[in-house]
Amino acid sequence: MKALITGGAGFIGSHLADALLERGDKVTVIDDLSTGSIENVRHLEGNKRFRLVIDTIMSESVLDKLMSEVDIAFHLAASVGVKYVIDNPLKSIQINITGTENVLSAANRSKCKVVLTSTSEIYGKNTTDPLREDAQRILGSTTIARWSYSATKAVDEFLALAYHREKQLPVVIVRLFNNCGPRQTGQYGMVIPRFVKQALLGHNVTVFGDGSQRRCFCYVKDTIKAILALIDEPAANGEVFNIGNRRDISISELAELVISLTKSESVIEHVPYEQAYERGFEDIERGTPDTSKLKETIGFEPEVNLEEALARTIEYFRG
Ligand code: UDP
Repeated sequence: MKALITGGAGFIGSHLADALLERGDKVTVIDDLSTGSIENVRHLEGNKRFRLVIDTIMSESVLDKLMSEVDIAFHLAASVGVKYVIDNPLKSIQINITGTENVLSAANRSKCKVVLTSTSEIYGKNTTDPLREDAQRILGSTTIARWSYSATKAVDEFLALAYHREKQLPVVIVRLFNNCGPRQTGQYGMVIPRFVKQALLGHNVTVFGDGSQRRCFCYVKDTIKAILALIDEPAANGEVFNIGNRRDISISELAELVISLTKSESVIEHVPYEQAYERGFEDIERGTPDTSKLKETIGFEPEVNLEEALARTIEYFRG
């Protein structure tokens, strides 16, 4: 198979590139290196089946050319992380909406299958446990930048489904819950790489708010396995799937676990949300994926538990 990965120099995209190359596929990555890093794909340099194109998905002509050369496009290029969206509100909206429309329209011209990566942010503040794919989306005010991420990713999903219904474009939408693993950076707010780095350096581990908010973390290679199984399943076409690990943990417990696994002397410091993000910031209290649709379709169960995922991430950061 010939695959295009938009955002393939990012955390998840680079692991996807590894997995496709291991299967024997040909991989082209397009990445503008705005939040991705060449270091994430450095080890692939010299692989004859790998190509890195440093360019932007904002360019339709670039996408048209690349899309005409492949069988499938994995669209991962997007604004990454809550902190990034708050700090770069305009660019985040433009990349998520115009960038995705460019990817889908170019794919449609080449009749190329698309996997659209979406997010659990789609559900917003809905605390239903667990969250099924058809759950309500509950969002706060437009004056709170965080919710633009959820809204733009929802537009991406609507667009992908519209291309599927009206143009018969083969699309699969995956809603990723929190991921973790090597190559994830804390630069854009992601909690696990931030905690691991803080603990290894003996700095205070910064828990935002009271730490009672809960998250489920899926090891990145488990996520990739699910994505690759879905593309081989015709019944997945035109469908939306949650991908995640159902075990949840409070952010306070996560901080304690990271401190213990790194054998760090660090202590926990509670940072108010308005200091960590912006005034009026609203966090998501919890979000556990209902993965029954994924299990019924591809028989998927995550294999790596949180302790093991953290151990591998810690090893990466030590290196
Ligand atoms: N968080 C934290 N300390 C940090 C970074 C994040 O307590 O240094 C919290 C954040 O407020 C949120 C949770 O960890 O409640 C997960 O944050 P992340 O940005 O990784 O994912 P998301 O909020 O998008 O689920």
